[in-house]
Amino acid sequence: MKLQSTSGLKIGIFCSIVFLIISFLIFRTGLPKFPTIFLYNIIILAACQGLSFYRGLFFLGASIFLTILISIAASFYYVWNIPIFFISFFVVENRIKRLDYYRHIIGARIDEVKENTNILVDTHARHKREMASLERKEERYKSLKDVTSTLSSSLSLDRVTELLLDNILQVIGKTESALLFLVDTERQELNLASSRMGRYFDNGVKAKKGDLLDEWVFKQRQCLLVEDIKKDFRFSEEKIMEYPRPYRSVILSPLVEENKLIGIVRLEHSKPNNYTSEDLRLLNILCDIGAVSLQNASLYEQTLDLAITDGLTGLYLRRYFLDRFSEELSRSLRSDLVFSVLMIDIDNFKGYNDKYGHMAGDIVLRTISKAIEGVAENAIIARYGGEEFCALLPETEKNTAKNIADKLRKTVKNEVIELRRLKTNVTVSIGVASFPDDAKVRDELIQKADERLYRAKRQGRDRVVAD
Ligand code: GH3
Ligand code: MG
Ligand code: MG
Repeated sequence: MKLQSTSGLKIGIFCSIVFLIISFLIFRTGLPKFPTIFLYNIIILAACQGLSFYRGLFFLGASIFLTILISIAASFYYVWNIPIFFISFFVVENRIKRLDYYRHIIGARIDEVKENTNILVDTHARHKREMASLERKEERYKSLKDVTSTLSSSLSLDRVTELLLDNILQVIGKTESALLFLVDTERQELNLASSRMGRYFDNGVKAKKGDLLDEWVFKQRQCLLVEDIKKDFRFSEEKIMEYPRPYRSVILSPLVEENKLIGIVRLEHSKPNNYTSEDLRLLNILCDIGAVSLQNASLYEQTLDLAITDGLTGLYLRRYFLDRFSEELSRSLRSDLVFSVLMIDIDNFKGYNDKYGHMAGDIVLRTISKAIEGVAENAIIARYGGEEFCALLPETEKNTAKNIADKLRKTVKNEVIELRRLKTNVTVSIGVASFPDDAKVRDELIQKADERLYRAKRQGRDRVVAD
């Protein structure tokens, strides 16, 4: 608010000039004094009202002084000046009152301005915070695009679990330990697939099947935010404390794809109130993206498995086995290692099929596959033909291979295959060939083993021929 308006200032200046001119005229020409003095007073009053307080005061002082001078010069009685003093008194009083009034108004205005300033400062700070949070959110959501492309860059299930956890940690941050569990569909339980441990958790994850919270998410298929595990009434603290990691806040999200729970992601921190519902929402979005990639990778691996493994026995198919054979041969050549090959054929299997049926024959094939898988941990095994199997035993010399083959022959012979109430059994014949003694080329080695297998057949079956 302006205390002195521009027009008021102009009036003041105008009146002051008029006042000076009239003073000069009186002094010089001796005009009639009483009306002139009255006119002075009016002009002085106008000057004081029109000017600002200090200017008005200045012109008032000046007018009193000049009037006294003019009165003396005009030999006029001082008594005529009394009205001037009265008027001056009222003007000054009026000015003081106006000053108080203005002070009061200004004070109120200053308070109002201060209050508005505080509100503005508050609003600005809030907007700044909101802007920062929006920028953070924008950054986070932008990174979701990168996550999608990173995850789709791999089709290996192991790699996708690693990438998913890394991306989650990168986008959400502020986490001391992160775990990704996958659901074992056959056993309907959780299995730890990947983890990232912070400073508190050097000794790794002990609860490989998850704890109370993981079970809850597994059953409810819902996200879970625990701000402070010590204060959360939903979960028994004692049971949680059995868990070897000293976490206080935790968020969990299920990995759901096509209505099927495929896993759980869990982020922990030893500080309470570390995560917000916004973090949980973001984790859930990341898990939705991750679940698609995990499912794709899983389907891809299943397809690969179908392409390289036999549906009935789960053993490798001939083509894939031969590739692996070649790799093993190169490795053995490079590292100067030995290995052996077993060619296994079921004896009189045609007769078994004819007697008990094809379905019973399939059970035999599965039983024998399991028996072969049990002979050596690192063996590469294939269903080589209809009822013919081939096993490559890495780093195994002839004698050991022969013993393994004989053990397998006995195991098969002693295996009772129950068909309803019927107890049946089969025998196998096995041919053994070893690298590098028998041959140094893949097909030659297989041929040698095959020849020995047929020798075993000719010699009466249910036996091992190794040379
Ligand atoms: P040998 O002792 O000389 O080996 O006699 P064998 O009757 O076993 O003769 P061979 O090895 O030629 O057997 C081939 C039989 O294997 C023919 C077929 O009935 C059976 N067979 C091949 N593949 C399958 C299969 O997937 N399921 C079943 N049930 N039988 C199969
Ligand atoms: Mg046979
Ligand atoms: Mg055969």
